Amino acid sequence: NTFAEIDLGELLNQNIRRCKYVKPTPVQRHAIPIALEGRDLMACAQTGSGKTAAFCFPIISGIMREQYVQRPRVARTVYPLALILSPTRELSCQIHEEAKKFSYQTGVKVVVAYGGAPINQQLRELERGVDILVATPGRLVDLLERARVSLQMIRYLALDEADRMLDMGFEPQIRKIVEQMDMPNRGVRQTMLFSATFPREIQRLASDFLSNYIFLAV
Ligand code: AMP
Repeated sequence: NTFAEIDLGELLNQNIRRCKYVKPTPVQRHAIPIALEGRDLMACAQTGSGKTAAFCFPIISGIMREQYVQRPRVARTVYPLALILSPTRELSCQIHEEAKKFSYQTGVKVVVAYGGAPINQQLRELERGVDILVATPGRLVDLLERARVSLQMIRYLALDEADRMLDMGFEPQIRKIVEQMDMPNRGVRQTMLFSATFPREIQRLASDFLSNYIFLAV
C-alpha cells in the first residue's frame, strides 16, 4: 500500500516522495503493476483518480532503461520512445508538468505539442530531443506530415480520456497516428487506454490497438 512496495526504482520513488504522494490511489495500485509487467491495459478512470501517474510511472520506468537505444539520425526528425495522446491543450500541459516532475533527474526528456498555438516554439523544443511526447492528435498529425516527428521507435502509447477524444472527433487522427507505429514495431509497443466511459466505439479502439489486454475497472 505504498509506492515503495511497487518496483519503480529509487530515483522514481524519490520523485514520488518529492511530489508528496504517499499512498497509491486505487487506479495506481492496480494499473502500475500490470503495466510494469508489460501488459496492455484498458482502464476506467475519472478525472482526479490519479490516472496521470498511473500511466506516467510505468512509462518513465521503462524509458529509463531504454533511453540509450540507438535512434535513426534523420535531419530534423525526432524519434520519441513514448507517446501520450490527450484531447486538449489544457490536459496535455497538465500531463507535461506532472511528467516532468516525475522524471526529474532521470535524464528522461518530456516535450508537449498542442494545437491552437504557434508551432515554432514546439519545434525548437522537439529539436533538443524527446523521449516522451505529450500531444493532442491534430498537432501531432501536423508534425508527422512535416516529418518533424517519427513514431517508428514508439515503445509506449497512452491514450488519455479516450472517450473525450472521440467525442471531439479525433478518431481519424488517432487511427492515422497509431498506423504509423504499427509497421516495424508490431509486438514491441505497450498500449494503455484510459477512459471514463466504455461505449462501443471505445471498445472497438481497444480491440484495434491493444493486444491481449487487461481491463481494469476500479
Ligand atoms: P489526475 O487524476 O491524474 O489528474 O490526478 C489528480 C490529482 O491528484 C493531481 O493533482 C495529482 O497530482 C494528485 N495525485 C495523483 N496521485 C496521487 C497520490 N497517490 N497521492 C496524492 N496525490 C495524488
